[in-house]
Amino acid sequence: MSISIKPNTTGLIFAMREEQEGLQALITDQELHHFAKRTFIQGNLWGHPVVMVLAGIGKVAAASTTNLLIHHFHVAQLLLSGVAGAADARLKVGDIVIAQELLQHDMDASPLFPRFEIPLSGKSRFLAPPDLYLELQNATQAFIEEIQQHFSPQQIQEFQLQKVQMHTGLIGSGDQFIHDKQVLGNLKRVLPDLLAVEMEGAAIAQVCEEHALAFGILRTISDSADETAHIDFQSFVKNVAAPYTLGILKKYFENKN
Ligand code: SAH
Repeated sequence: MSISIKPNTTGLIFAMREEQEGLQALITDQELHHFAKRTFIQGNLWGHPVVMVLAGIGKVAAASTTNLLIHHFHVAQLLLSGVAGAADARLKVGDIVIAQELLQHDMDASPLFPRFEIPLSGKSRFLAPPDLYLELQNATQAFIEEIQQHFSPQQIQEFQLQKVQMHTGLIGSGDQFIHDKQVLGNLKRVLPDLLAVEMEGAAIAQVCEEHALAFGILRTISDSADETAHIDFQSFVKNVAAPYTLGILKKYFENKN
């Protein structure tokens, strides 16, 4: 089937299947397109045109998927929602981080270029467009205020969701699942404002910047990027992060005109 371009389409990118759990069923008027080993689901979500895709894990998967969304679907903006490890003691599992800045923490062409700088671009940090992250903040705040409607008292107890906080700031991306206090500590020493680590956000940011495309990166803290990071990871993503994504995106799209 050839792709029909819909104006104002939002691209929705996920790294892992568990992160998008439940979302596909809510997309109406679905058209499926298969290419580059991925399935692109085009349709409407709460009245807004979207195309949703499972990119896979890591910076290359995220960057190439972003390019496909831009060139084949002409998306007007891009959102990624998923999980991340906490890189700051103030962030607890279950908290939500919205990217204001993104950096590739494994980029290091020193001494030719300063550590973290994308060679020849003169920059290491990508700024997320404020309009979009402010809208994501509003949606997240509204979601947090009614969290009891989304989880049972047992789940709130089990996953300790009594005091969920929202944070906005620097997210670091790299092709590494960080599960070591020392590795995290070494990064934090040179990036004191780092809030969270994950594996895709800054790659999406770099491609979107090249195309002057608006993007938003939303992350639920799934682990503390230390030796306990892998414990119950899958269960948390499915039971907590996926319902967060549904709830926050619903608020976001309902507020959007
Ligand atoms: N265990 C998973 C692999 C997860 S990789 C599996 O077997 O399928 C981690 C994914 O979650 C990436 O998409 C990344 O963006 C995010 N993530 C969560 N915690 C992370 C951490 N501590 N370090 C790096 N990425 C993390």
